[in-house]
Amino acid sequence: MKKSLPKIYRKTLLYKSGVEYADYSLNHVLGCSHGCRYPCYAMMMKKRCGIIRDYQEWIKPKVVANALELLDKEIPKYKHKIKFVHLCFSTDPFMFGQPEVEGLTLKILARLKKDDIRCVVLTKGVYPKDLLDKEKYGINNEYGITLVSLSEKFKSKFEPFSAPLLERIESLETLHKAGLKTWISMEPYPTPNLAEQNLNDLLTRVSFVDKIIFGKFNYNTHSSQFKNSKEFYDDCAGKVVAFCQEKGLECHIKFGTRTRRKCLEKKSKTQEIFSELKPSPFIYA
Ligand code: SF4
Repeated sequence: MKKSLPKIYRKTLLYKSGVEYADYSLNHVLGCSHGCRYPCYAMMMKKRCGIIRDYQEWIKPKVVANALELLDKEIPKYKHKIKFVHLCFSTDPFMFGQPEVEGLTLKILARLKKDDIRCVVLTKGVYPKDLLDKEKYGINNEYGITLVSLSEKFKSKFEPFSAPLLERIESLETLHKAGLKTWISMEPYPTPNLAEQNLNDLLTRVSFVDKIIFGKFNYNTHSSQFKNSKEFYDDCAGKVVAFCQEKGLECHIKFGTRTRRKCLEKKSKTQEIFSELKPSPFIYA
């Protein structure tokens, strides 16, 4: 039997996020066993603040033991201000191979649903079928996966302990087929010197989703050494926007990804949001 994870206690849980497409957020775990090596912005911040020592400590997650008690206290205080709660910006709510994290996340989603609070969830794990219980978890949540490549080789190098890509995609497809809203965070999308790949193949594989968020690689010296990165990301962003327009998907290009802004020629169901006035941290959860 798997050993239970170490526990920590927090004073608060819900907070107003500064991330450009978010509202309120919560992180009910410290650390993340996915151990991404993009690098992980959340890990960098925790190290900088002296909360963790190093990568080895980061990949041994600690669960916030009083998360549900905190929610009981905080929901009445914030519920009228909250548009939605994002899970999570500095950990992964469905950490692969971590049933204790998954269990707590499900309890949190059910607790928020009791007060009709909508959640936007993002993972590099696998969504459990429990979420198909619409009574318990509602029908208004948005479930997303991070997917920047279809290459397992790339995944092993940059997201070593996250879920296999196929399992990740198929779990999202299951939620989509059940009528739930799904999305893709295509961030940090690699420059060709990190991965030679065809963006259209990736877009086509996930064309069943309702929304795609696209963003560039950050904080990676190899990626920034790619000499045509501006043109590359302009071109990729254009392709993502055009693809979403054609398929009628929502589309969000992250701040700083596109350097030469192109206007949207056609009005369609597609909505492209450029948050150029308000930069925000890039967090790859
Ligand atoms: S980027 Fe996200 S999934 Fe990867 S280690 Fe950091 S928090 Fe976990």
